[in-house]
Amino acid sequence: MTTSPALQRPDATRNASPYLYGPEHQAVARVLNSGHYGHTAVTETFEQAVAHFLGVPDAVAVSTGTAALHTALVAAGIGRGHEVIVPSLTFAATIQAIRACGARPRFAEVDPATACVTPTTVLEAITADTAAVMPVLYGGRAIDLTPIHPHLTEHGITVIEDAAHAFGSYQGTRRVGATGQLTCFSFGPIKNLTCGQGGMVIPRTTAEAARLRELRLLGITASADQRAASTTYQVTSAGFRYPMSALNAAIGTVQLAHFATAETARRHLWRTYRAALADLPVTLVDVDVDHSVPHLCAITVPHRDQVWRHMHEHGIGVGVHYPPSHTQPAFTPWHRPLPDTERLGEQIMTLPFHQHLTDDDIHHVTTALQQALTSTGAHR
Ligand SMILES: *Cc1c(COP(=O)(O)O)cnc(C)c1O
Repeated sequence: MTTSPALQRPDATRNASPYLYGPEHQAVARVLNSGHYGHTAVTETFEQAVAHFLGVPDAVAVSTGTAALHTALVAAGIGRGHEVIVPSLTFAATIQAIRACGARPRFAEVDPATACVTPTTVLEAITADTAAVMPVLYGGRAIDLTPIHPHLTEHGITVIEDAAHAFGSYQGTRRVGATGQLTCFSFGPIKNLTCGQGGMVIPRTTAEAARLRELRLLGITASADQRAASTTYQVTSAGFRYPMSALNAAIGTVQLAHFATAETARRHLWRTYRAALADLPVTLVDVDVDHSVPHLCAITVPHRDQVWRHMHEHGIGVGVHYPPSHTQPAFTPWHRPLPDTERLGEQIMTLPFHQHLTDDDIHHVTTALQQALTSTGAHR
């Protein structure tokens, strides 16, 4: 007989971690026993639950957040010859989704205080080839581009939000996803809500929803039930293989039912860090905690690489979100100087941030940070 290894609580040695509420195990077991692991009614129930939670008519589930971005870009008609304005300070997934549809990234600066694009940095980046803007809601912070919507609309520029960090956050009184933009969420392992793997696109119209569903299923419009009842099916467009498995949707459905816990816990963690960091020579990247469900606790620090190493040597799971994209080898054709982003890329560091952390863990992290800053001469 084998015994299962003792489960250890993920602590500050981890930068991020999924958090389970309990019933996920049974929900996955039910799907396993059902023998249907593809896109099923379980997936559709999850789509409806997310739409209800956000207060929107519909939501389209896909396999990952990257698939959500790719599918949304294609559904919006973005492709070869087009430029998509995007911050350089993002995960490679954002840029690769733009490349996957055949378009080019046009890298934009971010406000160092928020690590997000602003109406000004977006306007500055627009060219004659700009077809879309893909703001990244860094750390969970909503981005309000309404001041420049008339200008974007006039030039036929679509806004497609990378809200991988921002599930549950608010822009004003509405949740991100419910503000009329084409919005993409990730439900990957360490996001605010996890399906194990998963993504969701919030369409703007019923026609767009149908197009997204056609794209995620290889360009086939008939449902699984319709295909089972017929000797043929029709492939009506190009398409991808981006289904959300019922196994993943079952996890997400449980997570969503407990999401109020995530909202409270993540805000509490972020505020606890803010208080503990107040006297240190570091700057918090502001996530607008009163309106957001924070995904990261990012700071800028002097001597970042030395501080990062010191923290790692003391068992603290610090990270870097993100090394800038415009200096990556794959994206050099679209490089342009972005001084604020380059400075952030040298100074930014993320602290352990997940729902297993206690106030004591945060005290441990900030004490180690103080020592690291002292040892590098930045703090006495
Ligand atoms: C996680 C993430 C993605 C990609 O989501 P996956 O579900 O991992 O494919 C895209 N953009 C950002 C900013 C992310 O953090």
